[in-house]
Amino acid sequence: MGILGGVTTRASVKGSELVTRTASIAAEVAAKHATDVDANSRFPHETFAALKQAKLLSAAVPAAYGGHGAGMLELGHQCAALAQGCGSSAMVLAMHHIQVACIARHGRGTPYFDAYLRDKLVGEQALIASITSENGTFGDTRSSICAVELDGDAMKLAKDATTVSYGAHADAQLVTCRRASDAANSDQVLVLFERGQYTLEQTGTWDTLGMRGTCSPGAKFAGAGAASQIIPGSFADSSAQTMVPYSHVLWASLWWGIASDAIGRAAQFVRGEARKKPGTVPPQAVRLAKAHVELQAMRHNWEACAMELDELGDSRGELEGMGWALKLNQLKMSASELAPKLVHEALQIVGIMAYKNDSKFSVGRHYRDVLSASLMVSNERIAGKSASMLLVFKDD
Ligand SMILES: Cc1cc2nc3c(=O)[nH]c(=O)nc-3n(C[C@H](O)[C@H](O)[C@H](O)COP(=O)(O)OP(=O)(O)OC[C@H]3O[C@@H](n4cnc5c(N)ncnc54)[C@H](O)[C@@H]3O)c2cc1C
Repeated sequence: MGILGGVTTRASVKGSELVTRTASIAAEVAAKHATDVDANSRFPHETFAALKQAKLLSAAVPAAYGGHGAGMLELGHQCAALAQGCGSSAMVLAMHHIQVACIARHGRGTPYFDAYLRDKLVGEQALIASITSENGTFGDTRSSICAVELDGDAMKLAKDATTVSYGAHADAQLVTCRRASDAANSDQVLVLFERGQYTLEQTGTWDTLGMRGTCSPGAKFAGAGAASQIIPGSFADSSAQTMVPYSHVLWASLWWGIASDAIGRAAQFVRGEARKKPGTVPPQAVRLAKAHVELQAMRHNWEACAMELDELGDSRGELEGMGWALKLNQLKMSASELAPKLVHEALQIVGIMAYKNDSKFSVGRHYRDVLSASLMVSNERIAGKSASMLLVFKDD
């Protein structure tokens, strides 16, 4: 099932207009500007203008609101397709879909969020950024220091964030915080702020190895709005039921897309070598064949999780169990370790022509981009959580 309906299967995704249109934008727009985006650490404006124009930013909005109502498998393929042109663009798109899914699955049914889904996300193709990280809690998304302050129908919030991707380019920010000033650090809610309701004062730089186009410096956030902009329920639920599953599947899909593009470059190189000596199999072809084994395993892993999540549809309670938490942790750790390994393989297969930044076989940007995967929620932190769960979890 999609976000709230619509069956997705491998076959339906193959013919998906959403995916084919995104793949065209990846090839014709994102890939063209990827080198400049990376070199200048700048936002991929051209790609997002094209996605907005094609109304692809509302892919995850339920059809009842005018969106595409895409399920996880289709969204995963959309992110993977874009990643083959520009990893940073795909990461921005994935992060946006994650925020949209939180709103669609947990905010829907309230007048404010119903109107936001229809008018802003579909009508205006608004782009939403996420502020979970905070000075003092760092990578632990399930803990906040800042707290929303309620005053009748109004609320306000200030947060000192360590990393805010495309914050300056977004139309809204979805922020985690404590429910009240006397709430525990883990008693959190999600609050949406629209542009004009907040300020973001940049506190750091974003001169990183990779994912440079995500433009993610630290920032001091301060915002005010209506109490109705707080997503009902707790972040404990929206995190387990939506933010974590969407993050880990969509990130895995786009890391696969980056690895797939690197292996694709290696395959193109090997075919070229084969043409030079007809009737012979180039020595690198064997290494390429082995790399495809892992590329396929990686793809099947995220696709399988996506399809299982799509089948669950609205039965979200299951996602709060240890079985799902472990499965999603395992997907994230596995994909984030395999992607750099596969790009490394592409580099070994091609050799110097992949090492050169100005070669058509270059995998430098791919390499640097996927190195962020194991840090973007630290694998060590995730493994620590899985380790505790595995002490008590019995699979049946
Ligand atoms: C490309 C990119 C985009 C991002 N975009 C955003 C965004 O838009 N919004 C946002 O809020 N955040 C964003 N982040 C931040 C991200 O979500 C994490 O908060 C951040 O990467 C974690 O930083 P850290 O390494 O300091 O954290 P930590 O998780 O605190 O890790 C610090 C160190 O401690 C180690 N460590 C942590 N826990 C354990 C443990 N249990 N056992 C052993 N070692 C441990 C880690 O291995 C690491 O070496 C982004 C990050 C990246 C890379």
